[in-house]
Amino acid sequence: MTINKSFADTIGNTPLIRLNRVSEETGCEILGKAEFLNPGQSVKDRAALWIIRDAVARGALRPGGTIVEGTAGNTGIGLALAGASMGFKTVIVIPETQSQEKKDMLRLAGATLVEVPAKPYRDPNNYVRYSGRLAEELARTEPNGAIWANQFDNTANRQAHVETTGPEIWEQTGGRVDGFICAAGTGGTVAGVAEVLQPRGVKVGLADPMGAALYNFYEHGEMKSEGDSISEGIGQGRITGNLEGFTPDFVCQVPDEEALPIVFDLLEHEGLCMGGSTGVNVGGAVKMARDMGPGHTIVTILCDYGSRYQSKLWNPEFLRAKGLPVPHWLDGPGREVP
Ligand code: PMP
Repeated sequence: MTINKSFADTIGNTPLIRLNRVSEETGCEILGKAEFLNPGQSVKDRAALWIIRDAVARGALRPGGTIVEGTAGNTGIGLALAGASMGFKTVIVIPETQSQEKKDMLRLAGATLVEVPAKPYRDPNNYVRYSGRLAEELARTEPNGAIWANQFDNTANRQAHVETTGPEIWEQTGGRVDGFICAAGTGGTVAGVAEVLQPRGVKVGLADPMGAALYNFYEHGEMKSEGDSISEGIGQGRITGNLEGFTPDFVCQVPDEEALPIVFDLLEHEGLCMGGSTGVNVGGAVKMARDMGPGHTIVTILCDYGSRYQSKLWNPEFLRAKGLPVPHWLDGPGREVP
């Protein structure tokens, strides 16, 4: 019997895809873990499910209860869809700057959406801190109670990758894997996979978009950032609960000018229509491959599907307004991006 009994059973066990162009360019095997094939179309389904299961196991989340979260979108989509399948309501606090497609999907998935201006974490009205206060309030007023998912500091997030993503990569490569690299939003993916793969001799790298502070922190001991990125869901400025205890073996920065041509190439030559964070991840894998030299196998994460960014990353006007490169085929007549 191979029938999945629910949404939850459909999360994980995503395939590894050889990224042919970058593999040939570097002489390494660069493999992408196809997280966009999760039922909520992103890597965050795993964290969402583990956070819900942990809250249920602790007795904090009761039948008909409400899950509150501050999210750039994908965790919220995972929580809302998993919640729908398990009988929980969701309230999502999201920065206004996130893509319209993600907001539409959240509403479609049944989440109540609270849009707030984008503010740094130190501001009490930052979306994460706002969601924490809202959860406290709803815990008092909702008839079946409410919990705060708190994906940044709740290590049930990292645990999802310790129990699933890390072991899957090890098994799918038959242990023939030399490196793993990805960017950090909460850090759950990179730190969780590291917990499994580093003790087995695999080097784990962290790729930072511009505007994030972790590269400078791990490389120079200074939590500072410069520049900006259009990528969503990644770019951290503090050591979250999920990043505690994690030490990368390799760190690099991948500016949008490098990440975007990679994202465009993935669609044009590999048939993979991805979001911006995947460009940072694959760009990081290329840097790690050059650092390690030819003949190595490096795994990274294909985080989410590109249709979620139709109005931004896949929109020539948006790219031009940001002074970013626009591929000729995205601009010309007659080509519709799926
Ligand atoms: N890419 C995208 C598109 C995301 O939404 C996220 C999560 N916010 C990440 C990457 C980073 O994953 P993590 O939170 O596990 O660091």
